[in-house]
Amino acid sequence: MYDRVTVFDTTLRDGEQSPGVRLSTDEKLEIGRALVDLGVNVIEAGFPVSSPGDFDAVRTLARELDGVQVCALTRARKADIDVAGEALSAAEDPRIHTGLGVSDNHLHYKLKMSRAEALETGVSAVRHAKRYTDNIEYFMEDSGRADREYVFRVVEAVIDAGATTINVPDTTGYMYPGEYRSLIESIRESVPNIDKAVLSCHCHNDLGMATANTLAGVLGGARQVEVAINGIGERAGNTALEEVAMALVIRRDLFEVETDINPGLLTGVSQLVSRLTGMMVQRNKAVVGANAFSHSSGIHQDGVLKDRSTYEIMAPESVGAEKSEIVLTARSGRHGLRHRLAQMGFDFTEERFEEIYEKFVTMADGKREVGAEDLRQLVAS
Ligand SMILES: [Zn+2]
Repeated sequence: MYDRVTVFDTTLRDGEQSPGVRLSTDEKLEIGRALVDLGVNVIEAGFPVSSPGDFDAVRTLARELDGVQVCALTRARKADIDVAGEALSAAEDPRIHTGLGVSDNHLHYKLKMSRAEALETGVSAVRHAKRYTDNIEYFMEDSGRADREYVFRVVEAVIDAGATTINVPDTTGYMYPGEYRSLIESIRESVPNIDKAVLSCHCHNDLGMATANTLAGVLGGARQVEVAINGIGERAGNTALEEVAMALVIRRDLFEVETDINPGLLTGVSQLVSRLTGMMVQRNKAVVGANAFSHSSGIHQDGVLKDRSTYEIMAPESVGAEKSEIVLTARSGRHGLRHRLAQMGFDFTEERFEEIYEKFVTMADGKREVGAEDLRQLVAS
């Protein structure tokens, strides 16, 4: 039996913090329902003290969603925690996500606290959150740039106070996979009461490392991943749920863990979030991009038509995408052209096919893509 990794989705909180995105409560509920169907274990629904809209969204999702933990973010302040506790009061399994910075940079410039003051503030926040739930997650903002000895002290103290999940965010997207894995491993090795809590990865994509760092954290022993659909989030975004979910499926041999995600629903949820947030998914996006299963060069088309495994490590249907697509371009060859013509119901003699192929090559040179209508013209001429 493999360990289970908890999937904590923050599309509706960190994802909604993407510049230019604003979701209504109804839209959040629609996405929330889709996330429950997808198999997400925890939904971070918002930051209730930040606005009446966020409060309303968290309260609505807490009331309406079953079979999932609904989570609210707070700062390490009693007033924030009280508002979150109220917003979550109808939840089946409410989680409060509180914490504060641990790097000297954040302590000095942002919080204006000493290390000792910050530690005490965090501990009392956890104690206060226990009035509302035993399901408490503690985030150590900017832990990627923090002093490790201090991180260990914070983790031990907040677990003693009642935190059951410890979030180790690389808030600034600064770390590399080897470093992030070693951070997770060192926490597991150095904190005496670490067996009472789950370590969680929360990685940002400023250097394109979010998925790699999250997976490195799993290899290091983290058993929760914080992710967002399509990787949306602050700045360059969060870790993409679909990438982590599929990496854990396709490379189960390496990670030896499982999640509750149903991969067949990934493409549909990706499209829903893209539509409601207005955040387009880039065509070459891993797993859910429009080109993720399209083949354009002759060499690749020939291989895929002989056997899909030559150039595809996962089947498009496995993530809910349509069939692999052969896109005809100037780089395509005879095998791809013959395949597309056959799909359109044409069957030609060798001689006639060669004529069409010659014309196709000339036409493809002047176009980005040769579509069905173009092919019909070629055949008719
Ligand atoms: Zn974040």
